[in-house]
Amino acid sequence: MAKCQKCEKELSTNEIGLHKRLINRGAESYMCISCLARFFSCTENLLREKIVHYRNQGCTLFTDED
Ligand SMILES: [Zn+2]
Repeated sequence: MAKCQKCEKELSTNEIGLHKRLINRGAESYMCISCLARFFSCTENLLREKIVHYRNQGCTLFTDED
């Protein structure tokens, strides 16, 4: 199971997908949603909205499981 490169929290599929969409599609290590929010100086809620947005576009990096 992949872990956050900063805080070592276990990552969900959507967190990995978000990292790929926002940072680098070819990334091999990822940040969790909390660390991504800190990185972008935005709220976790904003990032959760982005996950929903990308998923609704049919992006295959995201799942509705979590
Ligand atoms: Zn983290």
